[in-house]
Amino acid sequence: MRRKADKTIIKSHKLDHVCYDIRGEVLDKAIQMERNGVKILRLNTGNPGAFGFNAPDELLCDVVGNIHNAVGYSDSQGIFPARKAVQQYYQTRGVFNVGIDDIFIGNGVSELIQLSMQALLNEGDEILIPAPDYPLWTAAVVLNGGKAVHYRCDEASDWYPDPDDIRKKITPRTKGIVVINPNNPTGAVYPAEILTKIVRLAEEHSLILFADEIYEKILYDGAVHIPAATLSSSILTVTFNGLSKAYRAAGFRVGWMVLSGNREQAADYIEGLKIVSNMRLCSNVPGQFAVQAALGGYQSINDLVKEGGRLKVQRDICYRAVTSIPGLSCVNARGALYLFPKVDTKKFGITDDKRLIYDILVETNILFVQGTGFNHPEPDHFRIVFLPNQFELETSLGKLEHFFANYRQS
Ligand code: PLP
Repeated sequence: MRRKADKTIIKSHKLDHVCYDIRGEVLDKAIQMERNGVKILRLNTGNPGAFGFNAPDELLCDVVGNIHNAVGYSDSQGIFPARKAVQQYYQTRGVFNVGIDDIFIGNGVSELIQLSMQALLNEGDEILIPAPDYPLWTAAVVLNGGKAVHYRCDEASDWYPDPDDIRKKITPRTKGIVVINPNNPTGAVYPAEILTKIVRLAEEHSLILFADEIYEKILYDGAVHIPAATLSSSILTVTFNGLSKAYRAAGFRVGWMVLSGNREQAADYIEGLKIVSNMRLCSNVPGQFAVQAALGGYQSINDLVKEGGRLKVQRDICYRAVTSIPGLSCVNARGALYLFPKVDTKKFGITDDKRLIYDILVETNILFVQGTGFNHPEPDHFRIVFLPNQFELETSLGKLEHFFANYRQS
């Protein structure tokens, strides 16, 4: 007997407008090339461990030494010593009045972004997000029924957010403003003046400020990071940070979310955060034992970003190489791990930046991410991760120069 025709199994409509190109179709092509024996330089994610940036030994020792205490579930918001360390760390950054219960440890900032949106959004609620952005923010808003409204970051002003554009885009449905500082993908580090203007807008309209500060300690040329939470006590600020970047332990999947400022007004939302946090029982427990060692004591990240430090040297090489390629221009990064060069679309006849990235991959075996993958509105940028060592960086940027010397998108 013949079976009835198979019913196609389709994904949820919730995913219809969710876009996360950092791990998208071009990556699939890269994986296919790797299966055929091609060595691909993967510059699609900021994954320090993959490029020989080792996590501090002390942090690893604490995980190993506590492994027998880490086999059970922890409190859903995280183990006490990790939360205590986060609380004390923020005191040293000028964020006082944060209690242990205001801290949520999660499986990386990625999970906490999701939780923060899950607990907040109703259908059609709006969140203001920078363009370009770290696209997980947009994806999390959309997946949870919200509307991601992008505000302009202006390349001509060092990629700073445009507070007037933010103001224009606030509506009665706006629930919060996301600030990513230092910024991925642009490398911008925001001055007090810009941050203060954003905070004032949030105060005026009773909005939540979501401050993604995961690159807080990756700063170059004397750039100074100002924690958004220090700028207002009358709004709720939710600060995100974690072990993935400055502590080079992305695989541990540990991040934290800190609530500060006006928690009374947000008591119901906080209740929601506790519900969604409880629903996933707890985050990875062994990794949580690294938090105390990471936040206290000697900060080896400072050696990497200072003059002559590996990250600073690599950023300089990358900036010099990129800006010497005819048709490319770039604002130098003052923080984070990325450059976001502009491509002269007329010169190269570019109308589709995903196609550009695909063509670069096929010709040079290097995997980048196109600007529109970061919700940048025009197809005229791409992101470079400057984590490879000096030799590898020089070789690959040489290939990129050769690529652009001959490229014309048909
Ligand atoms: N936020 C920003 C701005 C990022 O660039 C990244 C990763 O690249 C994340 C969050 C994700 O961090 P985690 O590894 O803690 O999930």
